[in-house]
Amino acid sequence: MAQSKYLTGDSQAINEFIDRFDVFLFDCDGVLWSGDHVFEGVVETLELLRARGKKTIFVTNNSTKSRSQYLEKFAALGIPSVTEEIFGSAYSSAIYISKILKLSPPKNKVFVLGEAGIENELRTENVSFIGGTDPNFRRDITPEDFKGIADGSLLDPEVGCVLAGLDFHVNYLKLSHAYQYLRRGAVFLATNTDSTFPMNHNFFPGAGSVSFPLVNMTGEKPVALGKPSQAMMDAIEGKFQLDRGRTCMVGDRLDTDIRFGIEGRLGGTLAVQTGVNKKADWEAEGAVAVPAFYVDKLNDLLAAAQ
Ligand code: PLP
Ligand code: CA
Repeated sequence: MAQSKYLTGDSQAINEFIDRFDVFLFDCDGVLWSGDHVFEGVVETLELLRARGKKTIFVTNNSTKSRSQYLEKFAALGIPSVTEEIFGSAYSSAIYISKILKLSPPKNKVFVLGEAGIENELRTENVSFIGGTDPNFRRDITPEDFKGIADGSLLDPEVGCVLAGLDFHVNYLKLSHAYQYLRRGAVFLATNTDSTFPMNHNFFPGAGSVSFPLVNMTGEKPVALGKPSQAMMDAIEGKFQLDRGRTCMVGDRLDTDIRFGIEGRLGGTLAVQTGVNKKADWEAEGAVAVPAFYVDKLNDLLAAAQ
């Protein structure tokens, strides 16, 4: 089994760790903050890394917010950032659709299962969409819907892609529309497929709970654009021209963050124990991914300055 190096309290090891990298990719929830509570010393830790010339990029699977909404959150929590440094799964989905899928007429619309964050990013990339937060889809299915979906009269012939992210209003009507589009050959995408996400010291259904019913219906898996999908890594690499060998992924979750860094052949991965996974998880038999380094909490890196 691969070994992880524990850095907390070892300022020499922390200095060597920092010197190994030019770029740090930070997961957000569980690393920088928990919900709306920013962890102590996060701002100082980011300042330390920046003062040493490191680039800091924030990579989140939360598709419910766009980059501009995230920027507001960073500002509200007192974390200095610029829009370009934020990379969310809603954004990576939007650029995948516009730059890689390049949907063209007559099938250039996306049917969205998701919140405003996805819609905002699709708008920025000039991608047309239906569904999402539209109240016409946030209601119970009626006998007329069953008829019109079955005969196609209620379907939009221009839809060429279904994008599933976390949708707090997912319902039978939306799933029925999405399923029909997939049956008609629409490309199946997911912003991310997280099983759950942490909130209020507990867990709630993640974006995977929206796309997995469609997997069950179609037998097809979506292309996922969040961590650990390498489509997201490729997009980050393309945008920031990073040297993977000099880049470190910092995260709290083995199945998304640490796997993302390992499969992306980054120079290193650092696990923090302020979120979902703890040391016992990567030391367990059959752990999904083992970080190269770990600390108790992000601000343990501040020991490098002493
Ligand atoms: N998905 C949702 C809806 C969330 O609210 C969160 C965290 O708040 C996540 C995913 C995980 O986000 P991250 O990748 O920043 O840990
Ligand atoms: Ca996280």
